[in-house]
Amino acid sequence: VNWHVDDALVARYVAADLDDARAASIEAHVIACAECRARVAVGMGAQRVDRIWTEVRDSIESPQPRLLEASLRKCGVRDHVARLIAATPSLSGSWFIAITVSLGWAVGAAHAGTKGVLLFLIVAPLIPLAGVMFAYGPRIDPTFEVAIAAPMHGFRLLLLRATSVLSATMLLVGIASIGLPNIGWRAEAWLLPALGVSLVSMALSTWVEPFVAGGIVASGWVLLTSLSPLLRRGVPTLDRIPAFTPSGQAMFAVLIALAFAVLVIRSGRFDRGREA
Ligand SMILES: [Zn+2]
Repeated sequence: VNWHVDDALVARYVAADLDDARAASIEAHVIACAECRARVAVGMGAQRVDRIWTEVRDSIESPQPRLLEASLRKCGVRDHVARLIAATPSLSGSWFIAITVSLGWAVGAAHAGTKGVLLFLIVAPLIPLAGVMFAYGPRIDPTFEVAIAAPMHGFRLLLLRATSVLSATMLLVGIASIGLPNIGWRAEAWLLPALGVSLVSMALSTWVEPFVAGGIVASGWVLLTSLSPLLRRGVPTLDRIPAFTPSGQAMFAVLIALAFAVLVIRSGRFDRGREA
């Protein structure tokens, strides 16, 4: 037999670029011909090295999915949902460092006296609120274009991100509140206001930008909690601050329900008019 497998055929064979009949005839020849067997082996080896090299290069050059995105995927969250949650600006590592530092400072202040406890209870609800403010919005969201292209409506994306941010931040505040001095049920007095201000801010963002809505609500909260101690002078006691009394807490429960209703009724606002 004078026919041998030429270089072009070796290349196509190792690249699996031949139909079964041609591949079978090459294999039949290679079994009998040591010379061609060697050339195919070299070709195979070279291709394998190429493939490994490509894999190594890709793993180095491709941007690593963020830790959060990878963990979400491990928990069974679908790929595009995991990417959208992980891209939430207020779920980044630096954000959590800032929260931890603020909470550490507020817990420290709480041990210095009643004013410190008050400070903790005023600051705590602002943390989830800030998270919600930065969770969504065309002006600050780098993945806004992706979000629009994703098969998910604006309102669902907002709820998804807000829920993620609220759970994460409120868990951190909850952990921090364990470090508070013994103040009874009031160690949890931040919880309903935190949900209240966050939901009111979300509801308000159906009218104005999330950033503006958050600013208005945050100012309102700080005024509401610090005004009565300022007006009454003397050392403020928690009983005198409406937000931290049982009736004040009940009002926040009502406010949460109202804000949620407004949010559901006006949810269509998140799905259109975002080009503004
Ligand atoms: Zn041969």
